[in-house]
Amino acid sequence: MIQVDVEEERKEILKRYRRLLRHAKPVLKPGDAKFIKQAFNVSLEAHKDMRRKSGEPYIYHPLEVALICVEEIGLGTTSIVAALLHDVVEDTDWELEDIEREFGPKVMTIIDGLTKISGVFEYGSSQQAENFRKMLLTLSDDVRVILIKIADRLNNMRTLGSMPRHKQLKISSETMYLYAPLAHRLGLYAIKSELEDLYLKYTDTDTYKDIVDKINESKSYRNKFIKSFIQPIEEELTRQGFKFSIKGRPKSVYSIYNKMKKQGIPFEEVYDLFAIRIILESELESEKADCWQVYSIVTDFYKPNPDRLRDWISTPRSNGYESLHTTVMSNTGQWVEVQIRTDRMDEIAERGYAAHWKYKDSSGKSNSGLDDWITQVRSMLESNDGNAIEFMDDFRGNLFHEEVFVFTPKGDLKVLPFGASALDFAFEIHTEIGARCIGAKVNQKLVPINQKLKNGDQVEILTSSKQRPNEDWLNSVVTSRAKAKIKDALREEKKSAILDGREIVQRKLKQMKMDFNSETIEKLRAYFELKTANEFYYRVGKGTIDPTSIKSFKDFKENQKLKHKAIQEKVKDESSFTKEIKSLKGPDHDQLLIGEDMDVVDYILAKCCNPIPGDDVFGFVTVNEGIKIHRTSCPNALELLSNHGNRVIKARWTSQKEIAFLAGLHIVGTDRVGLINDVTKVISNELKVNMRSITVDSDAGIFEGTIKLYVHSTEHLDKLMNNLSQVEGIIKVSRFD
Ligand code: MN
Repeated sequence: MIQVDVEEERKEILKRYRRLLRHAKPVLKPGDAKFIKQAFNVSLEAHKDMRRKSGEPYIYHPLEVALICVEEIGLGTTSIVAALLHDVVEDTDWELEDIEREFGPKVMTIIDGLTKISGVFEYGSSQQAENFRKMLLTLSDDVRVILIKIADRLNNMRTLGSMPRHKQLKISSETMYLYAPLAHRLGLYAIKSELEDLYLKYTDTDTYKDIVDKINESKSYRNKFIKSFIQPIEEELTRQGFKFSIKGRPKSVYSIYNKMKKQGIPFEEVYDLFAIRIILESELESEKADCWQVYSIVTDFYKPNPDRLRDWISTPRSNGYESLHTTVMSNTGQWVEVQIRTDRMDEIAERGYAAHWKYKDSSGKSNSGLDDWITQVRSMLESNDGNAIEFMDDFRGNLFHEEVFVFTPKGDLKVLPFGASALDFAFEIHTEIGARCIGAKVNQKLVPINQKLKNGDQVEILTSSKQRPNEDWLNSVVTSRAKAKIKDALREEKKSAILDGREIVQRKLKQMKMDFNSETIEKLRAYFELKTANEFYYRVGKGTIDPTSIKSFKDFKENQKLKHKAIQEKVKDESSFTKEIKSLKGPDHDQLLIGEDMDVVDYILAKCCNPIPGDDVFGFVTVNEGIKIHRTSCPNALELLSNHGNRVIKARWTSQKEIAFLAGLHIVGTDRVGLINDVTKVISNELKVNMRSITVDSDAGIFEGTIKLYVHSTEHLDKLMNNLSQVEGIIKVSRFD
């Protein structure tokens, strides 16, 4: 039993409640405070015996979620009330009817939505996707459901430290897989960055700490640099009578990490570690002119990089983001990104959807594509009755893409994801135009349907009444809308082919004097090695299976025997394969401990990330290959943890001495005679590791090599890498998966 000071705790709860009220005050209308108090009391009473994993009173959680809604998303009273009550129906015996009676239908609908989606990732994978779809469907009712859900998740991520390790991994991965992209799509940049940073903190703690330390170390240098960089700009802006503030902010830990990883460079080589932001006070009518005026001042002092100008003022991004970005050369020869925007734009950038709403109400200006986006998601959900996981992947795909701006022949602007084709554009205009598309004219030139569109293209779609969508088309489109429509059409076509096929099979069996029943069909399916009976009908219907070949099915029994043998053969192969891996681990290998009970379990190391002892790892129960061990930083980890969380198990290394693991090294250097010899000497002589392969490439004096070798642990590998980098001429040694 933990001893708690009840009186102290009560005081702390009230303190937090008052803080919430204080922050909400500017948005409260008469009577709102009473309404919030009522919700607080209900929540306090309902959760009174509950504690969070950290040992804190449960009520802290709904209070914090409500505070995030007000302070970081900019929501109002209804959302505060819903946030305070968000776990009440799920965790206590309060029913939705009780909520409706006490707080009205609006709050009830939101709580209902929140309760329905609470289990999004709790079950099997298809269940998760289905729930995710439901969650998006609630968008059409009330987008506040999603916003409160994001606030809920943000608080859970902030307090993840007290969760057990496997939960941390699972919750972090879900967050990265779903909530961060959603926050991004809704324009909640600050929250999105924080979620990403927290994800990194819990999945790759060492790297995270390393980057944070380095950001802190370079702080005083950075501040000095920023000060001298902005000085002339500040002076000139003041001289011209602008009211403004300037911030110099380091980029998020995660975005720095991403740059390092993508470009394979150390922290020191990430050049744009921070961005300068100039925020103007400006009237709505003169915003655009003011921003460009400031741009002109900035580029009077520093030369801009013409490739890095981004004008999201004339054409805002589809999540509502408006800003003018340029990258300029500083006096010290360093590129610096400068973001120019007004107060209004800044608030939208930080708070996203809610702020957009606020400004839309007051100014009537609505050129953000967000409303369009919600309409589009809704229509997609309504039309799509296919595979939910597919849908989810399509949807996520769209979340991450950058956009291209193109025009219709009449000059209407359409925003499509980067990589969109003429066919995507056709489906964007109308389903029928998409389905009948035979080609397009881009800027008056005839192009095929898979032509990728570029910013500023003017596109006219050519159609024919004879055209039909085919499977190939799926490779020519990137938008969820086009994919869903093509799949719909294919499904329709497939349905009728299946019906045709079924009839043909029925007739054929009758001729052969065999019964048309599920048993026969099952045997036929197996005979033709197809996954489903429908697949079989379909092929018959399409004519890819000749109806006469059904006759040879009579010899089925003979075939079956042969096949049985083949399967046995295969199993034999697989077990010898497993043996091989075991022998690689060495005869008296130390074990990888898996599960709470420390049982020794057979495992395979995943080929996608080649984990070695010392790496942070987890086990994944595969369908056919037993348990596979992946690094938590494996490119597949995200998908596995979030979609199949129930198959993930804890794993850790025990002390290892004798086992050798495959690792890959990439080395770069200046070529000289005898370099390879020295490299291999380090590897084979000095450390007695086993090299499996080495490939080298030398071009214009630059030497690049890839080495695969067996090592014992990360420590061992680090030591080896260190020794290699000492070799004369070697510039860089890095590990790859
Ligand atoms: Mn919650």
